[in-house]
Amino acid sequence: MLEVWDKALYSIREQLDAHQYNSWFKPIVCEAVTPQAIVLKVPDRFFRDWVRDNYLELLRAELAQQGAPLDIQFTFDGERIDSRPAPARPPAQTYSFEPRYTFDTFVVGSSNHFAHAAAAAVADTPGRDYNPLFIYGGVGLGKTHLLHAVANQVRKANPAAMVQYYTCEEFTNDLISSLRADRMNEFRAKYRRGCDVLLVDDIQFLAGKDRTQDEFFHTFNSLHADKRQIILTSDRPPSEIAYLEERLRSRFQWGLIADVQPPELETRVAILRTKASVEKIPLDDDVAMFLAQNIKSNVRELEGSLVRLHAHARIHRQPIDIALAQSVLKDLIATTGPTITVGQIQKVVAAHFNVTTTDLKGQRRHRAIALPRMIAMFLARNHTPSSFPEIGHRFGNRDHSTVISAVRKIQELMDQRDPSVERAVTELQRTLGV
Ligand code: ADP
Ligand code: MG
Repeated sequence: MLEVWDKALYSIREQLDAHQYNSWFKPIVCEAVTPQAIVLKVPDRFFRDWVRDNYLELLRAELAQQGAPLDIQFTFDGERIDSRPAPARPPAQTYSFEPRYTFDTFVVGSSNHFAHAAAAAVADTPGRDYNPLFIYGGVGLGKTHLLHAVANQVRKANPAAMVQYYTCEEFTNDLISSLRADRMNEFRAKYRRGCDVLLVDDIQFLAGKDRTQDEFFHTFNSLHADKRQIILTSDRPPSEIAYLEERLRSRFQWGLIADVQPPELETRVAILRTKASVEKIPLDDDVAMFLAQNIKSNVRELEGSLVRLHAHARIHRQPIDIALAQSVLKDLIATTGPTITVGQIQKVVAAHFNVTTTDLKGQRRHRAIALPRMIAMFLARNHTPSSFPEIGHRFGNRDHSTVISAVRKIQELMDQRDPSVERAVTELQRTLGV
């Protein structure tokens, strides 16, 4: 089983420079691979946060390649009991909720007020008013945080409540392995009878998975009929999930649909303050304001920027001030000149190669289009703060693993000094002013 980890590690090593690899991957020990989760032991909380903020997508993508479960759990010595690896806990509660994701640490502003209120109501009286609750919104805007907050709250109020949290991928993987092992009865018992509250994260990944949709449909019906609470999250509303059976789409719309939007400035500042106080990071008002003004669309990146700043300040024994923030975050925030967007990159690349932006977002695989598309993804990854899934989304809803391999491919060609690719990339970078 541990082989999965070794293989993933090998591939990660190929993609990172030695320093990154030695600092952030070599120290990780794979403790267990269960059907639900892979458990990685890291030196401390700080290390875990760093890896989560900077390498989680890479880890997920590489582990997925190896067919590993997609729930990655981290442990370290001295952490709280409830985040211990799955095998140490009783079977009914295989998932540990993130203790830091509570309603107390969730900052409410007008961008997320409605979703927060709905989640809080459901946590108070699960299964009663809004069933299902469907929360949707962009990457890093607090959807997973809200799910865990509900889970933590319900458990606190009623420790015997069976609260189950799964990502859509876990549900799918679990289904596939249960089918293979001919253990569908157990599977059904677990999801239908073993649940007072079922939380499924990133349900948009049901798209196109017919067998999983079918099984989820029955799970949904059974829980709903028993007045068990269902909460789903997605990066888009049910109406925009492609390749979703109509009967599921309509069920997702039965209860309450709430969206989360990117937070406004005051909320961003408040989020930074909360994070800084939880993590005991000294943060002055002017630095908080500077970060909040420059990182706008994604709370995860906002938090990541703080973690990075803290790391640099510790390593270089410097205070966290604006000058340090500017230098550490220069790739994330544009302090000179305008920010480059994925849309601009697509336009410039399309013009350069004499194709259309629709081609870049489309499905054609001819090299005359595939190569410009990969180059555009490469530039988007290197010159915008967008994550792999965000870039995939902007390129015709491609999977993040497609983006990762495109970026890797172009990087390889650049490293091999492939003349035409090198020339195109350099020229495009000049046009973009980077
Ligand atoms: P999503 O699931 O929407 O992609 P997450 O719930 O994983 O986003 O949020 C990303 C990070 O940002 C988490 O660390 C989360 O705690 C934090 N975060 C997002 N929104 C808020 C908020 N309103 N208050 C406090 N932290 C937040
Ligand atoms: Mg999430």
